Amino acid sequence: MTTSIGFIGLGAMGLPMAKNLLIEQPELKVWNRTMHKAEGLIDLGAEPAGSPADVATLGGIVISMVSDDQALLDVSLGPRGLVGALGPGGIHISCSTVAPSTLSTLAERHAVHGEILVAAPVFGRPDAAAARKLWILLSGPATATERVTPLLAPLGQGIHQLGEKIEAAAAMKLAGNFMILSAVEGMGEAMLLAQRYGVDREGFADFFGRTLFAGPIYQNYGKQIATRRYQPAGFKLPLGLKDMRLVSQAAGAVNIPMPLADLLRNRLLESVAKKREDYDWTALELSIAEAAGEII
Ligand code: NAP
Repeated sequence: MTTSIGFIGLGAMGLPMAKNLLIEQPELKVWNRTMHKAEGLIDLGAEPAGSPADVATLGGIVISMVSDDQALLDVSLGPRGLVGALGPGGIHISCSTVAPSTLSTLAERHAVHGEILVAAPVFGRPDAAAARKLWILLSGPATATERVTPLLAPLGQGIHQLGEKIEAAAAMKLAGNFMILSAVEGMGEAMLLAQRYGVDREGFADFFGRTLFAGPIYQNYGKQIATRRYQPAGFKLPLGLKDMRLVSQAAGAVNIPMPLADLLRNRLLESVAKKREDYDWTALELSIAEAAGEII
């Protein structure tokens, strides 16, 4: 039996993901709030839909990749939303980075119609999405995660299963972004210290990226911070701010003090106040430099 597949949200991440999906699923239906972003996909054979509800077919699967919690609720519960349109057995795969509590609330709303929500947030930037190099976290009811695994597998380099609790994937995604941004803060401070004593920034990033910190975060972001190339943004700074707010809220809800998350949130808030909304989230490094008297 072939399952009808739909895709909602064709932004920096959604567009390359949908493009890759289209190769496996030539019948793909797509919807984006700003529909002109779908033109390239439609040229490749995707079917345009008039609303989030129209992307769904009864018992089918719809992937959403929208910016934040409100956007996810809008496409799900707003006018002509997805909830109720999928029908019994239908599955909504939410790939956005959102609050754990938003997913549990939305799962309940889907369940009223016999629909299942699955959380599948991803690690990897738009270039990784295009190259099918995403790391996908997956949580939700086992019958649904088993059904969607073959669909998601071609979009990334691996799927990490987190069991039935829908909040788990969201919490792990937020925790991962917190660790990434902590590394950015650490690199920004450390690189500036070394620079003041005559160390070349790019040489610094290259050495640690090859030796003590030989992993993609230190290698890729290290180079970016060393050269201060923050535009064009791969991950827009306001989305990073959204994530650090979500980290603080999620931590607060379970009584975990996270002082470093507060510092990172304030760094990003300062960056927004300084009109750096179009910069990559790593541009919080500029605030570290400015505090140390650097003229950028
Ligand atoms: P983006 O380029 O800003 O795209 C956001 C998408 O959400 C667009 O399709 C936008 O539609 C849609 N949208 C926003 N508000 C909406 C609303 N109220 N109703 C309907 N649609 C709405 O963001 P992105 O970089 O693709 O990120 C998408 C998600 O992936 C976010 O949760 C982000 O945290 C996560 N993520 C991003 C990265 C990354 O490196 N970029 C990596 C991993 C995870 P319009 O086109 O009409 O504006």
